[in-house]
Order: sequence, then structure tokens, then C-alpha cells
Amino acid sequence: MLRGFTSPFDATVVSLLQDSGADVIGKTNCDEFGMGSLNIHSCHGPVWNPVNQDCATDSLEARSAGGSSGGSAAAVAAGLCDAALGTDTGGSVRLPASYCGVVGLKPSYGLISRWGVVSYADSLDCVGILASDVDTTERIFHTLAVFDALDPTAAPLGLRKEVYQSTEKRLSSINFAKSNSLEGLRVGIPQEYFPSELSTEIIQQLRNVVSELRLRGAMIIPISLPSTSYALSSYYVLASAEASSNLARYDGVQYGSYVKPPPGTDITKTSNVYAQSRTAGFGEEVQKRILLGTYALSADAFDNYFLQAQRVRQLIKEDFNHVFAIPNHYSDSPVMTSSKSPKVDVLLHPSAIRTAPLLNEVSSGASDLSAYVQDVLTVPASLAGLPALSVPVKDSDRESERWPVGISVVGQWGTDEMVLAIGKVVQ
Ligand code: GLN
Repeated sequence: MLRGFTSPFDATVVSLLQDSGADVIGKTNCDEFGMGSLNIHSCHGPVWNPVNQDCATDSLEARSAGGSSGGSAAAVAAGLCDAALGTDTGGSVRLPASYCGVVGLKPSYGLISRWGVVSYADSLDCVGILASDVDTTERIFHTLAVFDALDPTAAPLGLRKEVYQSTEKRLSSINFAKSNSLEGLRVGIPQEYFPSELSTEIIQQLRNVVSELRLRGAMIIPISLPSTSYALSSYYVLASAEASSNLARYDGVQYGSYVKPPPGTDITKTSNVYAQSRTAGFGEEVQKRILLGTYALSADAFDNYFLQAQRVRQLIKEDFNHVFAIPNHYSDSPVMTSSKSPKVDVLLHPSAIRTAPLLNEVSSGASDLSAYVQDVLTVPASLAGLPALSVPVKDSDRESERWPVGISVVGQWGTDEMVLAIGKVVQ
């Protein structure tokens, strides 16, 4: 739909990077309009995962770089750049980061400007950062996380300051200063983040990280986020509904490429004109999301799908608010201070249910549902607007050709500094 399109202006994130001296060296491949988890829905073809490169000389051996921002993750993993940007609506920075063995940050919703970024689902979209280590990710986060009046969903300055101060206060009470000690840090392990699809290899890697944190004095606390199993369904209803509305602008007349209707078409009916361009311009996955989203917003389905998904989203936010020690400064729902459940600073869980799959397996035969399930561990933080950082687990056996595994650190809204600090410990 946007083939050959060059934006007449820079996104705020691009200007901020350039103003601070960064070189923007190129655009990367991604799933069309950010829709996908495996980078197989791109008009440029799939992104090949560059890890263990020699395996990928044969297309039968090539693995997915993850999606939708797979090109960004692959570019960092291949050493083509120090860092890359991507968008994370439901996991599209964290999942490719996990598959490619790089760091991926989805910041708190509203901290980084979305001005100039193509919208997929406005209430979920975040600009994310991919880099080979947490320090670089943090430097770029500091450059980009500034208030931008052009983004109507930007978190106000007062709120940023308030949450920054509570994060600093909490961080200083954790004994980071004492070398190697994590005394005072409370890490929650959500029991619902171990679905049947999760590979045992990944559970083992998480166990190793948890044991190390415990050895260093962190308190490991099993916690429950009971609405987690509804997150994926809620996400796909809401994201598709918002996408159907956002993508309505690509009609081939005002925006997007135009395809002339065949001779004899009644062009006094404008939908006949739009249909040609939209059918030719959008890929199959995008068309599917538009149809699903339009249905969810139709009078017949609105209550049962869209409103129900909004209710689930509220429950998911409340689940998180119950477990975090720092209250949610951004939340529109009351914070339950009386809750007896143990409070934690961050949550730790696997970023993905598996390592990078073979492209050959996922582009042929595999059911669509299996692609959607890849997002099961990333969408809850997106629905709640929380900061989430995927960090690759160290592989002690340097000779091994094991595929990378990512572990996610998730914090309360606005505690991105804490999430990055813990990420440095995990990496
Ligand atoms: N895989 C999810 C989707 O297709 C997430 C995409 C994203 O974060 N951009 O909607």
C-alpha cells in the first residue's frame, strides 16, 4: 500500500536521534503495518535470522528473525548497526529481540513520542529500542523519552517527574551499591506465564537466571496474574478493531497506492473505487485484521467482542496493579492499597514460548493460530501499557549453536529506569 512512499517529514524519534548525533543508516524490513510475529507478512519477503549464520546458507535451514520488527533485530544481531528502532504493539520488539539474541525494550506507553510513526493500534503502539546491550538501550531511551506536544497520548511532564522520583527512591533502597548484592529487590514470577506451549529448554534458562538472582540476595516471589489467559483474545480483538479504523485512510485516493477500477465499474459508488486499491494494496494478513476489526466494531458484535475485550483489558491492568509495590501513576482505575498479595518491584518471565522457528515450517502448513500464540507472553504488558525489556540469556557454552533465549523484565508504569537496571543484572 505504501510502496514508493517517502514521508515528507521525520518522526520525532528520528529527529531526536539525529539531533543528538546519531547516524540513521537505513530502513529495515518488518511485517506489513506491524501485523505479525514471524516476519513472514512482508512484501519484501521474510527476514532471515542472522544468528548461527552458517546454518542459513540453505533456505531450508533459515530461521525466522521474529516479528514484526524482525529486520531491526536482525540488523543489530548481524552487527550492521549499534541499535535500531521498531514498534511494539503487542510484542514486536521483544519477540524478535528474543529470537535474534539482542536486547529489546518496549517502554511505558506514552513516554516515547509516536508522532510520525504509522499507526497500527493507537492505544497499544509504542516505539521500542533494539540494541546489543542494555547500556546502549538505556542511552537511546534517555534520548527519546521526552515530552512531545505533537503526540496527544504523551505522558505529561508532571507525571514523568513524579514516577521518576518514586523509581529513584525505590532503586536507592535496593542495595545495588554493595557490590554484587541485590538485597531488598523483590522479583515476582507470574505462575500463569508457563503455558503448555512453553519449551522446557526455556524454562531451564529462566531457572538459571532466577537462581543467580536469589544467590545475590534478591527475594523471589511466586505471584498470580489471574486474567492472563484472556489477554491474547482481548489483544487481537482490540488491536484489529483499532487497525480497521486506522487503516481506513488508505483508500488509494487520499493515501496509499491507487489501482484503477476495470472498465465498466460503476465509479459513482466510491466503495467500488476504494475496493480496487485496498484489495491490491493490502496483504492477506492485513485484510484479515481489517475484516476482524470491522466485525468487532459492528453493531451486532460490539458488546460481545469489543466491549468484552475492553473489560478484560481492565482486569489485566488491575492484576498488575495488585502485585507492584509502586502504585500506577498513569492508571484510570483505583489502586488497591489494601490488597494482601505480596508486592514486587519487577516481574521476570520468558519473553517467548520457543526459540526462533524454521521459516520453512512457519510459512508453509503451520496454522495461523500458532503465529498468534507466539505473543502469549508479551501482550499482557502491552494491554497494561507497562515497560518490558527482553534480555538475551548468557550462553556459557560459547561453542554451542544453541538458538538465543530472551528473558523479560516487566515493571510498573513509568519505572523504565528500574526495568533497565534489573536488565543489566540479568544480561
Ligand atoms: N504479533 C502481534 C500482532 O500481529 C504484535 C505486533 C506488534 O507488536 N506490532 O498484532
